[in-house]
Amino acid sequence: MELLGKSKEELSAFFTALGEPGYRGAQLYHALYAEHNLSVASMSNLPAALRSKLAAEAKITLPTVKQKYSSADGSVRYLFGLPAPEEYARMKSAAVEAVFMPSEGRQTICISTQAGCAVDCQFCLTAQLGLIRNLTPGEIVAQVLLPLIDRDGAAGENGYTGTAASGESELAARTNVVLMGQGEPLLNFDNVFAALRILLDQRGLGLSPKHVTLSTSGVVPGIERMAKEAVRPKLAISLNASNDEQRNTLMPINKKYPLKELIATCRRYPLRNWEHITFEYVMLGGVNDAPEDARRVVKLLAPLKRVKVNLIPWNPGELPFQESKEASLDEFRRILTDRGVPSFVRYSRGRDVMAACGQLALLEVQPSPLPILP
Ligand code: SF4
Repeated sequence: MELLGKSKEELSAFFTALGEPGYRGAQLYHALYAEHNLSVASMSNLPAALRSKLAAEAKITLPTVKQKYSSADGSVRYLFGLPAPEEYARMKSAAVEAVFMPSEGRQTICISTQAGCAVDCQFCLTAQLGLIRNLTPGEIVAQVLLPLIDRDGAAGENGYTGTAASGESELAARTNVVLMGQGEPLLNFDNVFAALRILLDQRGLGLSPKHVTLSTSGVVPGIERMAKEAVRPKLAISLNASNDEQRNTLMPINKKYPLKELIATCRRYPLRNWEHITFEYVMLGGVNDAPEDARRVVKLLAPLKRVKVNLIPWNPGELPFQESKEASLDEFRRILTDRGVPSFVRYSRGRDVMAACGQLALLEVQPSPLPILP
């Protein structure tokens, strides 16, 4: 039985099946997620005999850290190796990325939800991988736990034995998590929300829903389903275009869920009183960054109550797009702000360590032909 990524109820049922009291599930849950202890042998809240039994009956599988790159701006980019599906025999492992970004007393961890992605956004290197596979709840949770433990330098010889330098709850209060790495989270809904229920549980990792953001390319049925979840993070929409024609080209998923439908879904979305919807807009020079684009974005978002727009300067790389001129970026932002749409410029962190989503994973599979699922 794999322990990481399991809910309290699943762990309790596992102990009951082993002939042990069900409350041991809550104790194991606490050790794993609240104490960040990924080594059963050092879980002092469980009796020694039970720990030995667990060693025979269960395991905690962690992604391997294939590469770790530290950026001059303090970000750390992890390339995690995960088992690859059989059809990818030439790949020893599927690779996903997570980025740890410290800033002024807080830290943000960007995590992946799928290895590769089927959505095919034209400005994204992950799209070139195609979908390799969905990540499990444990693989998603591990991308938060491992950078936190790593940061506190508490990795034991053989694994991970909890965060040492500061209290775990204090650490959780200072941690943001964004689901903006590889993959479309709403196309791996069940596993993503199983992981989120652990991340957002005050007896689990203890993150606040105000500090966790799920970013989607606009999968309308997924947004509708998310709206009904009792435990849910904030919602961000990767917009990147001001009309359907443009968005159909940049994000082919728009042909399935066009802007009118997407905005109508956002309009129905039940915002909590502290909440707004974030729209991300990657500024592509000469493509979507003209003043008329900004005016169309204002019009598009007008039916929505509480929104903000993050303008993301393009990170030049291998894809055939140009950076926006600074004057275009300023003008775009001015048009939004003057018309009452709060907007912010967000530079990618860790540019010197290949910050574009999918860049590291793609390096792993090149120069072999890229995998395409049938
Ligand atoms: S931007 Fe996100 S949804 Fe689009 S292809 Fe890349 S990983 Fe997938």
